[in-house]
Amino acid sequence: MLAAMPTPSVHSSPQATAVSRGRGDACPGTLRLHMADDGALARVRVPGGVLTVRQAEALADAARRLGDGDLHLTSRGNVQLRGLREQCGAELAEMLDAAGLLPSHGHERVRNIVASPLSGLDGRGLRDVRGWLSELDAALCASEPARELSGRFLFALDDGRGDMAELGADVTVRAVADHGALLVLGAADAGLHVSADEAPRAALLAAETFLTVARERGAKVWRVSELPVPYQELTETVRRSLNAVGIAAAPRTPDGTAGEPGPPPGIAAGALCVHVPLGRLTPLQWQELRHAAAEELRLTPWRGVVVPVPGGDPEAAVDTLARLGATGLVTDPASPWLRVGACIGRPGCAKSHADVRADAERNLAAAGGARLPLYWSGCERRCGHPRGDRIDVVAAPGGGYELCAVTDGRRPRVALAEDPSDLATALAAITS
Ligand code: SF4
Repeated sequence: MLAAMPTPSVHSSPQATAVSRGRGDACPGTLRLHMADDGALARVRVPGGVLTVRQAEALADAARRLGDGDLHLTSRGNVQLRGLREQCGAELAEMLDAAGLLPSHGHERVRNIVASPLSGLDGRGLRDVRGWLSELDAALCASEPARELSGRFLFALDDGRGDMAELGADVTVRAVADHGALLVLGAADAGLHVSADEAPRAALLAAETFLTVARERGAKVWRVSELPVPYQELTETVRRSLNAVGIAAAPRTPDGTAGEPGPPPGIAAGALCVHVPLGRLTPLQWQELRHAAAEELRLTPWRGVVVPVPGGDPEAAVDTLARLGATGLVTDPASPWLRVGACIGRPGCAKSHADVRADAERNLAAAGGARLPLYWSGCERRCGHPRGDRIDVVAAPGGGYELCAVTDGRRPRVALAEDPSDLATALAAITS
C-alpha cells in the first residue's frame, strides 16, 4: 500500500547558511569513543584514505581483538571500528599509535582530508596530490589553532580531474593547468589562485582564517557553510591573510571544466578498484585486499578501495580482481550496489525504526532499476546521506518506509511503502 503526496519545495542557495551550534562538537574519534547500541564506536581518520599495508593490518587487528571484526568505511574515506568494548580506549590508542595512525593526539579528529584516489596512478589529472596530502597533514598536525577545528571540517585535494567537487568540502584545493592551484571555500563560485608549492600552506591558513572570523563574529559554527558571512567576503579575508604571510593569492573564477565521478569498480591504469557494499568490509575481504596490495591501499569517499598496481601484469590484474569479487566486493561497474547506501540502522542505533541494511539488501534489484541512487535511513536524521540527487528511503516510526526524491531545485516528491516489499511500486510512483 502506498501513497504519493506533495511536500514543500527545497530551497538551495549559493550563500552560506547561518547556523549556531549550541553544543560542543561530539564527532567521535579514536580517543573519544561514541557509545552506540552495538558497543563503542571509534572513527579513525585516514587522510587521503591512504593506508600502508602495515596500517591496514593494524586496523584489522584492532577490529578483530577489540571490535566486531569488520571495518566500516565512511563517506570521507575514514574507517569506523564498531562493537568495541567500553574500556578498550587506551589499548586501541596504543595499537593505532604504533602503526602511525595517531600522529598527533590533539589533532586526531581534525585530520579530515579527502584526495583524488587515482592521483599519480592512472596518468590522468594535472598533478600527483600525494605531496600536497603529506604537507597538509603535517602542517595541520603542527598547527595550534587547528586543534579548534570541528571533527566535521573537511579539506579536499583534487588533482584537477574534478572528482572532489561534489563532496562539499570546506576548503578545496584543485590543481589547474598553469601548474598552480585554485583554493575554494565551501560552495563559493570563485576562489583564489595560488602557486602549487604554496597550496597546502594556503589551505591550512584558509581554515585558520575561518576560525578567526568565526571567533570575531561570536559564531559557534563547525563548517564554512554555517558562517554568517557571504562566501565572497570570507574569500577576500582569506586572500588578505595569505598575502600578509607572503603567499600570493589572486581572485580566480573556475574555468567551468566539468568534474568526474569517483573511480568505477574494475581495472584502471595502474590500479584495481572495488566497491564495498554499504561500506562494511569483512575480515576476509580486507585480507584479500591487503594481499593484493604491494605497498598501500587507498580508501575512497564513495566507499570503495583502490589497490595501486603500478606497471602490473594485465592477466594477473584480472585474476586478482576475480579473487576480490569472490569475497563479495563489487567489481562490476553495473552493479546495483553502486546506487545504494544506508546508515547503520538496527541493531547498531537505538533511534532506528528498522534494520535498514537488511531491507536495502533484500530490495537491491529495485534499486538497480531506479532513476536515482537510494539512501536508506533508520530515522529522519538520515546520517551519512550523500550530497546530490537521490531518493531517501526513511523508516517510519509505525513501520514501513517513506520515500522522498531529493532533486536539486525541484519540488521533492514523497511516497509511502507500508512494507519494504512495496518499494518497487513506491519508487515508480515518485519517479514517474
Ligand atoms: S539516521 Fe537515525 S537510525 Fe540511522 S544512524 Fe542516524 S540516528 Fe541512527
